[in-house]
Amino acid sequence: MKKDLRRLVQIVLVLFLVIGALWVNRKNRLMVENSGYRVIMGTFAQVTIGIRDEAEARDLFRMAFAEMERIQKMMNDRDPDSEISRLSEIAVDKPVEVSPELFDVLWASVETSRLTEGAFDITVGPEVRLWRRMQQEGRPPTPEELAAARSRVGWEKLILDPEKRTVQLAVEGMHLDVGAIAKGYTVDLVAKALVDAQVPTGMVDIGGNIRCFGTIPDYPEGWVIGLQDPRNEEERMAKLSLRDMSVATSGDYRRFAQVEGQKQSHILDPRSGQSVRDLISVTILAPTAMRADALSTAVSVMGFEKGMALIESLEDVEAIVVTSEEPGQFISTVGADQYIIAPD
Ligand code: AMP
Ligand code: MG
Repeated sequence: MKKDLRRLVQIVLVLFLVIGALWVNRKNRLMVENSGYRVIMGTFAQVTIGIRDEAEARDLFRMAFAEMERIQKMMNDRDPDSEISRLSEIAVDKPVEVSPELFDVLWASVETSRLTEGAFDITVGPEVRLWRRMQQEGRPPTPEELAAARSRVGWEKLILDPEKRTVQLAVEGMHLDVGAIAKGYTVDLVAKALVDAQVPTGMVDIGGNIRCFGTIPDYPEGWVIGLQDPRNEEERMAKLSLRDMSVATSGDYRRFAQVEGQKQSHILDPRSGQSVRDLISVTILAPTAMRADALSTAVSVMGFEKGMALIESLEDVEAIVVTSEEPGQFISTVGADQYIIAPD
């Protein structure tokens, strides 16, 4: 009887230990939680995190999307009340102080313009608006219309003072359009907020502008990201394995319009006001999502030769592109190989 009791106590004790160990293990195990897609900045955004507590994940997603909406409110050039839209009206020939976030984006934009000899240029707004109108009217612009828009474009007309954090526009009728860099900037801000909140690993994605940080122990390859085949939405042309890295893709296969039967990319060469066509997809890998976002647009404008030469000259930045001449294959910089997992 005594022996039986001892055995029972032993069994119960072992059971307690096993359940306890499983419980501790479950508590410490990273679960992958995904926010699902939400519409932000005219595209789809999602946040994925490795976390130990589901309830905490919901709070973090709420914080992440609130941050995205905050930046969207400042930088949406289609909203006449946004900080950036108001700037176009009040900063003509007079310095105007702006928020630190907007200044950061404007400063990085001008640096990218300098680096790319004007291929990247957020003062492209008047040309973007002209082509939007042409799309509605179904005709190309007249030489006069094009010249009028071009006279209001040029990154040297955007005067920034980092000490006073002011912005001044040199001519009337300028429109700043940060659509090619603001998503990447916002992704970086959200990723930083998650790291600050002690999230060990995650991925932030706004419309294909992605930043990954950390890794999940069960996933030694890191964050695996599929690169869409620009000719076929269903197919992936390659997979990338990323840790603490950012990636962005620009291309005319996602957003384009037809003007008189001609495919019109949403990316323009600001120096000519014309749509670009050489590269159909440009993917950039860089330490920050802002840099990847800006450079993917810039390389789309620069074209294959100049664009690839620029990326090869930059440390920590790699490119994977598809040209219109050979749409069936991708071409990458030497250093991109380390991230590419065998094509699907
Ligand atoms: P992305 O999708 O990042 O390549 O950004 C494209 C958006 O940036 C366009 O929809 C325009 O609003 C704007 N944009 C077009 N051409 C340029 C350019 N050359 N430099 C900077 N922004 C541009
Ligand atoms: Mg971009």
